[in-house]
Amino acid sequence: MDFQIPEKAEALRKDIREFVKAELPEDWVAGILEEESRDEDWAFAMSISKKLAQKGWLTMAWPKEYGGGSASHWEQFVYREEAGYWSIPGTGMGIGAIDWVGPCLMLFGKDEQRKKYIPLIASGEPDGVWCTGYSEPNAGSDFANIQTSVVKEGNSYLVNGQKLWTSCAHRARWCWLAVRTDPNAKKKQHGISLLIVDMKSPGITIRPLYNHAGFHSFNEVFFDDVRIPAENLVGDENRGWYYLMQALSFERHTAFPQYLGTCRRVFDELASYVRGTIEDGKPLSQDPIVRRRFAEIAVELEVMKMLSYEITWKADQGIIPIYESSRNKAFLDRLLERFSIFGMQIIGAYSQVELDSKWTKLQGRMQRLYLTFPGLACAGGTSEVQKNIIGQFKLGLPRSY
Ligand SMILES: Cc1cc2nc3c(=O)[nH]c(=O)nc-3n(C[C@H](O)[C@H](O)[C@H](O)COP(=O)(O)OP(=O)(O)OC[C@H]3O[C@@H](n4cnc5c(N)ncnc54)[C@H](O)[C@@H]3O)c2cc1C
Repeated sequence: MDFQIPEKAEALRKDIREFVKAELPEDWVAGILEEESRDEDWAFAMSISKKLAQKGWLTMAWPKEYGGGSASHWEQFVYREEAGYWSIPGTGMGIGAIDWVGPCLMLFGKDEQRKKYIPLIASGEPDGVWCTGYSEPNAGSDFANIQTSVVKEGNSYLVNGQKLWTSCAHRARWCWLAVRTDPNAKKKQHGISLLIVDMKSPGITIRPLYNHAGFHSFNEVFFDDVRIPAENLVGDENRGWYYLMQALSFERHTAFPQYLGTCRRVFDELASYVRGTIEDGKPLSQDPIVRRRFAEIAVELEVMKMLSYEITWKADQGIIPIYESSRNKAFLDRLLERFSIFGMQIIGAYSQVELDSKWTKLQGRMQRLYLTFPGLACAGGTSEVQKNIIGQFKLGLPRSY
């Protein structure tokens, strides 16, 4: 395995840093899943999406024929890591557009769908923003249990049901929607299909859900007799489960370098806080417990980087990562938990102030990470679900349920 990041990818890092200097305010700070909350933040994120598209970075890893730059996996890695480090907004086009909707349409979509939707995503324009409708009140980890029903009527599907935790639905133009097309299928997985839904369709109601950091990131979405043209079916009817497993693998794998970048930035800021802080007359950096725990987090961050390199190297060799995506996500979930709890203990009472308070430390970065980690550990499938996948697909253990 070659861990040396190619020169071309390192050169890209420099370009991205110049872009950050030119386009983002000097004191720019933004947490994960924050940009879709406030109108002004969303408008700024979309203006950056457009610029990233013009630079050829937004969908850099996509083939040229689909508006991408055919960049290597290493270049993509560096771009995402820098995007996380500098909190570059507008890199996602909502939830899933770049990481799984586009790639799945390339694999399973119809020609007309590829021609219509993929360039829209690559353009960085608001009409290329997507949300992902998988979870329901009775279907999260047990994803195969989805109940949102679909009846075929002539040349269209009539959709009824409810989705839950739909991130970015209030900003999205399209929804990547998992529905039940065959309620009588012997195996629940065999009665699921995937539809492309125009979020402007009559019959869709979006209700906001605020996360515990106070941001409007996800929603409940209700479908009441929503009519979807039959041409919006992705692939074949009742083969949705197969497409969804691929989409989930993309989801767990592609976001990893960005989170690595975010963690590295918070770590660097926390380290500089520790270096410059005197507590009870003594430098915080000389506290043996602080030093030991800091070193532990540093080691874990390095492990996270290596896991990420390994998956990138494999992808570069044409090897499709299967259990590795789950391994990385399960590792990240635990690291985020340990790191953010440690960081909150380090800043002590300052961890209790509002994000925009004059007393806040690290521009609220530590609280942001702390308030986000439980959600991230659920999004894209919980840590327990990832461990079940590792047990089954890597260790050859029997199914756990
Ligand atoms: C920030 C955030 C963003 C999200 N965005 C979206 C989105 O855009 N679109 C979307 O469709 N969904 C989204 N979700 C929903 C997410 O996919 C679900 O929360 C997740 O799949 C878990 O489902 P659940 O919440 O129903 O929990 P449950 O499935 O009810 O799980 C509850 C607990 O039981 C455990 N558990 C369940 N089954 C097992 C098992 N077999 N073995 C061991 N433990 C188990 C889980 O690990 C968890 O701890 C988002 C969630 C969050 C937090």
